[in-house]
Amino acid sequence: MTPTASAQARPDAADARATDADRPFIWIDGKLLPKSEAVVSVFDHGLLYGDGCFEGIRVYQGKIFKCDSHIERIFRNAEDLHMMRQGGDKFGNGGKGFPYSKAEIRSMMEQCIEANGISEGYIRLIFTRGEGTLGLNPFACPKPCVICIADTIRLYPETLYEAGMKVIVAKRPRTPSVCLSPMLKSLNYLNNIMAKVEALSVNSGNEAPEDEVFECIMLRFSESGEKIVGECSGDNLFIVKDGELFTSPIEVGMLDGITRAFMINELIPALDLKVTERPLTLDEVMNADEIFLTGTAAEVIGVRQVGETKISGGEGAITKRLREAFRAVVMGPEIPTD
Ligand code: PMP
Repeated sequence: MTPTASAQARPDAADARATDADRPFIWIDGKLLPKSEAVVSVFDHGLLYGDGCFEGIRVYQGKIFKCDSHIERIFRNAEDLHMMRQGGDKFGNGGKGFPYSKAEIRSMMEQCIEANGISEGYIRLIFTRGEGTLGLNPFACPKPCVICIADTIRLYPETLYEAGMKVIVAKRPRTPSVCLSPMLKSLNYLNNIMAKVEALSVNSGNEAPEDEVFECIMLRFSESGEKIVGECSGDNLFIVKDGELFTSPIEVGMLDGITRAFMINELIPALDLKVTERPLTLDEVMNADEIFLTGTAAEVIGVRQVGETKISGGEGAITKRLREAFRAVVMGPEIPTD
């Protein structure tokens, strides 16, 4: 992001000439452009191969929730994808490093929410491999492309937060970590999308809103073939048993959710509750007193039923305390941006 590019391209959020077709203004490759002009090349490896990484980030009261953690995670992912080696030779030697600093990415997000007048919303930050050739070689792409979209979001219907959701267990397991680490929040989400289709397909379209299924548990298999619950298609998972909380450790193979970490390190201790990280079997999850999911978009949401198995009558009591504590933080005077 050169200073000139940012200064020249930045539209005035209050510009009366901006039409609905222009909004949201999108940061792409160093420029803030109207939606209709924010386009990527058909030779971008993000499009051709799902080659890139992304973040979903919440904005509360105009502040970027856990901004530093998201920036750290996407830069870690970019490093794992060898994006720092682009711009060198075709073997990835003598790369130029990532074209933007962490501070520039933060500023890009801040300008994007300001230009779109967003105080409660969602940011999608995307690093694609950039434009290259039709071959697989990522080092044939000289420069990653950075995109930032700031918009509004609503994931699950509001009523589900008190009623608790119904979920299913997907037949399709999570991609084994040896193939592709689930800690890599890559642009290739097909494993999760196909599992999500399994969940959506149990709906006939005539269910009452609180009976609609949107999410699924994705299993992993331990070396002895045991069914381990890691995460869902787009959320991390916790259970409550006898007043204590449990969640599988990241090492079983799942995304190191930022909402999950906020729960474990801040909210759960603040409520004087105890959480233990150990691999959870599907049996334990099915026999839990409460289940809840966490994620940037979902925040904290209870699960009342898994497949045909009833877990709790509506949202569990501890889940409710945690959900309310989460809401109190994001509606409170100090939005955590670390
Ligand atoms: N697991 C997966 C597979 C996800 O895509 C997400 C994000 N939607 C999460 C967990 C939750 O992570 P975070 O709290 O960082 O949004």
